[in-house]
Amino acid sequence: MSKKFDKSEHWAHPATAALHAGFRNDPSTKAVCVPIYQNTAYELEGDLSKIANVYNVKEDGYTYTRIINPTTRALERRFAAVDNATDSLAVASGQAATFIALANLCSGRPGDNIVASPFLYGNSWNLLHNTFRRFGIETRTAENSDPAAFERQIDDRTICLFGECISNPILNPLPLRSLVEIGRRRGVPVVVDNTTTPLVCRPAKLGADMATYSATKYVCGHGTTLGGIISDYGSFPFQQHPESFPLFSNPDEAHGGILWHEAVREVQDLGKSATLLKARMTWLRDVGACASPFNSFQLLQGLETLHLRMRQHCANAQTVAEMLRNHPKVAKVTYPLFFTGQKKELADDLFDRSYGYGAMLMFEVGDARNGRTLIENIDLLYHVSNVGDARTLITHPVSTTHTTVPRDKRIAAGITDGTIRLCVGLEHADDIIGDLEKALSAIH
Ligand code: PLP
Repeated sequence: MSKKFDKSEHWAHPATAALHAGFRNDPSTKAVCVPIYQNTAYELEGDLSKIANVYNVKEDGYTYTRIINPTTRALERRFAAVDNATDSLAVASGQAATFIALANLCSGRPGDNIVASPFLYGNSWNLLHNTFRRFGIETRTAENSDPAAFERQIDDRTICLFGECISNPILNPLPLRSLVEIGRRRGVPVVVDNTTTPLVCRPAKLGADMATYSATKYVCGHGTTLGGIISDYGSFPFQQHPESFPLFSNPDEAHGGILWHEAVREVQDLGKSATLLKARMTWLRDVGACASPFNSFQLLQGLETLHLRMRQHCANAQTVAEMLRNHPKVAKVTYPLFFTGQKKELADDLFDRSYGYGAMLMFEVGDARNGRTLIENIDLLYHVSNVGDARTLITHPVSTTHTTVPRDKRIAAGITDGTIRLCVGLEHADDIIGDLEKALSAIH
């Protein structure tokens, strides 16, 4: 690592960090872009006691790509700088990020529980309410509109408060500052999923302790690559809570009785976050959901322009939302800019308005038949149930993602028969509007 990088420990501007942080040039060729180290293992050269030190987390070094890889490590360092994090850990997908981030906080004793918003991406909901439950980790639910409900659910075995900054798909804002205040007071870390609003929402500045990202979405930005990232903002004092988080204070048998808070001081590159060091050396090692080096390379390309793309995604979304709001065939538009009351206050607090209000929105076209007619008459937009592609994506949840959800549950969650979800892309806004207007005119 060159001196220039070492000096830039703190990156004030994401635009600069996204291009320069974490990697200056390849030490052997001086190539300026991060090379793809598409390999699994590393030659264990030289003094065997030094090699043992690498395995025992007493020295930095590369052992096996499931644990660490130079391309992926460059992505992690760069993403951490962009996200104001102490360190980041890249994994195979957004789901792997949520799984590892939360599992890493468990004590392994019966009674561990998570207090979560009910407004979660469907597979995160499944992970918490089905898979974790089968492992003995309970998830308790508290509504975003009532932060005190989160506090009421906390007990001495609560391992975190969890929610999405703005929920996918129904756009419910998290009362993040209130949760941070409760978490600080009750000794519980706050973990957020910031997949749909990277840079638009800055969890570190709002006091969150950790964030998870499906980098598959906006970080990649082009719908080509799966990836997940966990950021640790270094704010939660795990060691002050040894009863709730014994594995952060006591010897961890999962790695030869290591003390993570001591190990983190012995290494340099991996010495920024004891939490992520533990996640890497135990959970990533055992679960095996590592990022592929090629995917890390793709995500590095996306990260370089994330700040530009997010601004344009938000600007286009606002223009499209305003057109829809004034369209006679649209009964309602759900877009954070148009929220009122408490929801608007939360959205204004969550978002850096120099970017805008995100790129996801929902609108209502009456009934299921109208919803299907709209989708059948779209030409330019893609009928795809994904988020964060450069192209505009449209779905009719009742005909796709929510077909199996009972009607009463779906309606209670804000998805009616005529709800359309839109993830606004980077085409010219006039063209997105033109396609939507044409499709809307087919509804009678
Ligand atoms: N979190 C949110 C908010 C998501 O929207 C998604 C995927 O859509 C995920 C997590 C899971 O990400 P991945 O598909 O990369 O596993």
